[in-house]
Amino acid sequence: MDAATLVKEAFKEFTPPKRVKISVWAAEHFELPETSAEPGKWNPTRAPYQPGILDAVCEPGVQKVTLMCSAQIGKTIILLIIICYLIHLDPCSMLMTQPTTDMAEIFSKEKLSSAINNVKPVSAKIVQKSRNASSTILMKMFAGGFLRLAGANSPSSLASMSIRAYFGDEIDKYPASAGKEGDPVKLAMQRTETFWNWLVFLVSTPSIKENSRIEDEFEESDQRRFFLPCPHCGHRQHLVWERFQYANKDSKEADPLSGVYYICESCDRPIEEKYKSRMLREGQWQPTAVAKDPKHIGFHINRFYSPWKGWVDLCLDYESSKDDHQKLQVFWNATLGLPFERVAGEKLDWQRLRDRGSQSNYQQGIVPNGGLILTAGVDVQADRLEVAIVAWGRGEESWVIRYEKILGDPLKPDVWEHLAHVTSQPYPHQSGAELRVRAACIDSGYLTQEVYHQVRKYRYLHWFAIKGVSGDGKPMVSRPTAQEVNYKGDRIKRGIQLYKVGVDLAKETLYARSQIETPGAKYLNFPKNLDSNWYEGFCSEVQVTKHRNGQPYMVWEKLAGVRNEPLDTSVYALAAAHLVGITRIKWSTVEKNLEAPIAEDIQDNDDGCEQSNGKAPNNQTTNVRSRSRTIKRRRG
Ligand SMILES: [Zn+2]
Repeated sequence: MDAATLVKEAFKEFTPPKRVKISVWAAEHFELPETSAEPGKWNPTRAPYQPGILDAVCEPGVQKVTLMCSAQIGKTIILLIIICYLIHLDPCSMLMTQPTTDMAEIFSKEKLSSAINNVKPVSAKIVQKSRNASSTILMKMFAGGFLRLAGANSPSSLASMSIRAYFGDEIDKYPASAGKEGDPVKLAMQRTETFWNWLVFLVSTPSIKENSRIEDEFEESDQRRFFLPCPHCGHRQHLVWERFQYANKDSKEADPLSGVYYICESCDRPIEEKYKSRMLREGQWQPTAVAKDPKHIGFHINRFYSPWKGWVDLCLDYESSKDDHQKLQVFWNATLGLPFERVAGEKLDWQRLRDRGSQSNYQQGIVPNGGLILTAGVDVQADRLEVAIVAWGRGEESWVIRYEKILGDPLKPDVWEHLAHVTSQPYPHQSGAELRVRAACIDSGYLTQEVYHQVRKYRYLHWFAIKGVSGDGKPMVSRPTAQEVNYKGDRIKRGIQLYKVGVDLAKETLYARSQIETPGAKYLNFPKNLDSNWYEGFCSEVQVTKHRNGQPYMVWEKLAGVRNEPLDTSVYALAAAHLVGITRIKWSTVEKNLEAPIAEDIQDNDDGCEQSNGKAPNNQTTNVRSRSRTIKRRRG
């Protein structure tokens, strides 16, 4: 034996194992627990989409993996396999979060422990007890690292620990903030920053559109989908709900058992479920987008791919849930693996919102804790003004603070004087401080010149003239245009700026937010003593599909016999929040300065629209800035 071989032999035991594909490793080592539906060795061909997800974790250059999926596709197995693989072959410091600490304990006891016990090379590495530490339910120690399990509701367990690999499970069920520390997923991801070879794996069934972390992450990824070849024409496609067909789909007298087919997007021929397992075996993951960061890859899979549930059963699930909003959401999230969007033509349930309001813990007129800035929305009618005062806080959570009809003729000064009072008076905050309205948006669609005149007169109260514009793709607030000529064509001295408000986007935003059930980011809060008419008015419009030249498009329509001012004023108050730069406010500064909000809480930005209005929040700053501008103009 020569020296080189001798050295090699001597160090054999210390040579790190060769990096093997996770799916290859799992096929050799991973055993499904006795309690699972199919106990025994993990079989890579059973659910052919699983190996591709597993192996991605070891793909060169990949550091972040997002899995947006339906229920019952084996996501827990995927997580357990990756964790066991790392413990065996690439041990390091790891953190896994579940929605709550209780759920983390249950996950550890019911899933993780049996997985570890069943995989010999992994259980051999676990340190049950040593001089310095011992494994517990929420902390697994092993040679070369540890796995900590934590609840996303517990800020202390997310802080002050450096980790190389982070696993976030069911991230759409996490609270908006862990205590006061902020988004738990962001907190956990920050913990990996000190490692050059960090790894993040996020997985969840999605929740509601507008409020889905996993969807936001998936959209930033390369959006891989599992493409299956058509048995007739060979065209590869990923399965979407819209192309499933059976007799009388979506009709009241459905008989969904009379044949469920998938209609090929290329040859239009029906594909029977008997081809499913063959198609799955020949399936391939393909990216459908360019990732924002090439290190980030994402997967989406729905339950129609699952080998454990038939298409007919899933279509029956749909049939039994399609008439019930809550059940339909479950179908969307848990079967299609998609964030739930309200369906066009669906009315909002105003009684449900009213019932929620009646459970509220605050009354009109007082700003509850969490509300940090105020804006107003004003609608002009022939015999009155209607005004909503809305408070905004972190994550754009909002609180209706006051709703009032100011009766009188808007062509006379009285109603405007009253509005000036409503928008300038201080509103008491639960903390004992006082808040004032930072911006009021007043609709100029009716009595346009009078509104311009009043906005000019009361501009020192941060009144803004707005005009609602409908149509897809219109931004919440557009750059203003100067209105310097009145209806007679005469020049107006010191004309006003008119802001266009994308009312369709604003309504969609408010209606989507009204479906969020847990207080936190984007949640709408209503005071205890808000009138039923307000809720009916807020829910007074419905989005319907129309056709132009055969092309479908969406429009908002008012329900018959209901006033829609509560919705309109909410839209204008939301626009006002965007005028004061709500997406860029430094909330910590506002919190510190509750009594005297200052303009510096708006961060610098290069978005012309919001920037031009960063001046709005504060009298002093506005005056100083406008004065200096006037001087410059005179000099120029
Ligand atoms: Zn085909």
